[in-house]
Amino acid sequence: MTYQDKTDTTEAQAVAAPVLELEGITVAYPRYGESDHVALDAVDLKIRRGEIVGLVGETGAGKTLLTRTVMGAIPGGGEHTSGAMRYNGTPFTDLPDDKSPVRPAKDIALIVSNPRRELNPVLTVGQQIVNVIRHHLGLSEKEARARAVDMLRAVAIPDPESRMDAWPHELSGGMAQRVVIAIALSCDPGLVISDDATSALDVTVQLQVLNLMKEMVAGSETAALIITRDIAITAHYCDRVVILYKGEVVEEAPRDAFFDRPHHPYSINLLAAFAHSPALREAWWDVPPLADGTRPACRFADRCARRQPRCVSEAPALRDCGAGRRVRCHYPVEAGT
Ligand code: SF4
Repeated sequence: MTYQDKTDTTEAQAVAAPVLELEGITVAYPRYGESDHVALDAVDLKIRRGEIVGLVGETGAGKTLLTRTVMGAIPGGGEHTSGAMRYNGTPFTDLPDDKSPVRPAKDIALIVSNPRRELNPVLTVGQQIVNVIRHHLGLSEKEARARAVDMLRAVAIPDPESRMDAWPHELSGGMAQRVVIAIALSCDPGLVISDDATSALDVTVQLQVLNLMKEMVAGSETAALIITRDIAITAHYCDRVVILYKGEVVEEAPRDAFFDRPHHPYSINLLAAFAHSPALREAWWDVPPLADGTRPACRFADRCARRQPRCVSEAPALRDCGAGRRVRCHYPVEAGT
């Protein structure tokens, strides 16, 4: 792809309607005798056609909860208390049942990290893929079977014709994950959400699967949301990076701009860990503790090397920095600071 092609693609993405639009999504867990625990706080996210967005955060940041909220399956008694979700411009609440955006492998395909739970133990691999393809694409048995074999080949399953007759319990964990990914991609979904789906795969297979996802998205109507703890994946595969910390978006930026100069102190911590840089760690990880009992307004204040008194008393808003960047910080790391 030439530089001009890439510029054109980026401009086209900027004007394309979002496949998925989340606005102010808040999810809270009621607590007895205490105020609710707000696990997702006013999260905004837009994913456009042909775009791959990387959602990065550590365990407990709310990444998986966000996908469960989109799929209408909030776990553990949580409540979606406010915010709007739209699929191709249509609010979720306006969609009739048979047009639900959560149809597996069709509108929004979710790939999770535990493939065993996704596969039906009493159907062969082939039956499971063929059923999904026939249901959503209306192909004949023969056509669906041919497409299923192609999909297994695309996710690097060896000898895909004979694997069609395998039972889920006969597959290794990595193989089962690739079957789940094949099912998810088999009907050209509008949006693929990969929730840490490749972390259990061998590195070479992981690359194959991510490359496949990228090829599928390039120049198509499909979009992808890659949810990961591994920021290196976003550097290679994503157009845009969104950083989630304790249920809040703290930074969002086009990929190159983000890796060139992250603005939020937490983003710098993430990159310092990724780069294994002792100098960066020394500068960014040596943080004096807060006074006992302090509940800082900024959720990152207890770990932030740039903390000031204002950060403890006043919660930072997510502010627009131009050029598609947003950051939630009173004292972001910008040029010359
Ligand atoms: S608002 Fe203050 S404590 Fe929070 S990330 Fe920014 S500098 Fe750090």
